[in-house]
Amino acid sequence: MATILLEIATPDKGEVYAKEINMLICRSVCGELGILPKHARLMTELLPHAMRIKEGGGETQLFVSGGFMEVTPEKITILADAAEAPDDIDVERARAAYKRAEERLAKKDSDIDIDRAEAALARAKARLLVKGVPIG
Ligand code: ATP
Repeated sequence: MATILLEIATPDKGEVYAKEINMLICRSVCGELGILPKHARLMTELLPHAMRIKEGGGETQLFVSGGFMEVTPEKITILADAAEAPDDIDVERARAAYKRAEERLAKKDSDIDIDRAEAALARAKARLLVKGVPIG
C-alpha cells in the first residue's frame, strides 16, 4: 500500500511523530481533509481536534491543538501548538480544563474572553475524545 511521510513537531516537545502512513484525516479551517499519498500541494491552518491516522491496516488518533500543515505529494508536515498521542494525554488535566472552560462560558461575564474559553473547551474535548472518555 502506498505511503506518505507524516511529521508533527511542536515548540514544547520538538518532533512528536514521524512515520510513513497510508492516510491522514484532519480538520482544517477549510473543512475536513483526507490526505492520501501523492496528494496535491497545499498549506492550511488546523483546528483543535482528534486527527485520524490510518497506517498498516489500523487506525490511531492523535490530538492536535491547531497549527499549520503543509502537504506535498511525498510528505505532510504539521507544526502544531501542541500534539499528543493517547498515552501522553493526562485525562484529569483535560477534565479540569474542560470544567474550567465550561464554568467560564456559563458565567456570561463581560470580562470573560469568550474566544479563549471556547478554544480551551475545544482542546479539552478533543483530548478526551482521543482518550475515549465520555464528555458531559
Ligand atoms: P491546560 O489548561 O491544562 O494547560 P491547555 O489546553 O491550555 O490545557 P495547551 O496550551 O494546549 O494546554 O498545552 C500546553 C502544554 O501542555 C503542551 O505541551 C501540551 O502538550 C501539554 N498539555 C496540555 N494539556 C495536556 C493534557 N491533558 N495531557 C498532556 N499534556 C497536556
